[in-house]
Amino acid sequence: MRFGKRLYIIFFALMAAVIIWIATDQSDPGQLKIGFDIDDTVLFSRDIFTNLPADKQNPIDFGWVNVRDRQYSLLIEPAAELIHFYRSHGHEVYFITARPGINGDSVAVFLSEQLGYPVTKGHNLFFEPKEYVGEYRYTTKHRRIKTLGLDIFYGDSDTDIVAALKAGVHPVRVVRHQSSIDQYGKNYFGNTNDGTDVKAPFSKTDLEQFYRGSVGVFGEAIYPIIWDGPASKNGAE
Ligand SMILES: [Mg+2]
Repeated sequence: MRFGKRLYIIFFALMAAVIIWIATDQSDPGQLKIGFDIDDTVLFSRDIFTNLPADKQNPIDFGWVNVRDRQYSLLIEPAAELIHFYRSHGHEVYFITARPGINGDSVAVFLSEQLGYPVTKGHNLFFEPKEYVGEYRYTTKHRRIKTLGLDIFYGDSDTDIVAALKAGVHPVRVVRHQSSIDQYGKNYFGNTNDGTDVKAPFSKTDLEQFYRGSVGVFGEAIYPIIWDGPASKNGAE
């Protein structure tokens, strides 16, 4: 056999081996990478936003918000249990929030304290604010979900589910606490507080139907969190 022909065969044999290796994904055992949204998924942070000073509201000053979790936010215990469940089986957990990242290290410190393991900005915590296209604001979380190679993404908002779908990742809807829905219905099954128009057609009765069916507007699974809620960090409820 001529040397050139032999080289040709070796080259194609190597290419075939690489393709088979990629196709069978030998590099990836069954370790999962799990993503979580933060607000109303892992933290009940409503009281930060209801206590925004007038001069921090338009637009919301996230530099102020991101240093207020210790004062106002509560850990949603069933979400924390789920995080510990995954980690105790060797899976990796990441947090992706649409909050802008200014003073984001404070959020990392608070999550670390609450969850009992190190959460670090840029390592397992990422800030991915929405972006405007024309008059609409769109999620950008899917870029990070893709980069990290997540397998599942948990979130309460419509945009969390959209981000997971855009990234080709399994979306799971965490049920938002009723007091958060009451205070902030927007971006939750359209807006079930405002079920009157094309943009927000689903009523609170429809929402119960979704919950009973364990499926959401986008075909996502619904995670049946049962949580007592804000018994009162600030004595408010
Ligand atoms: Mg959220």
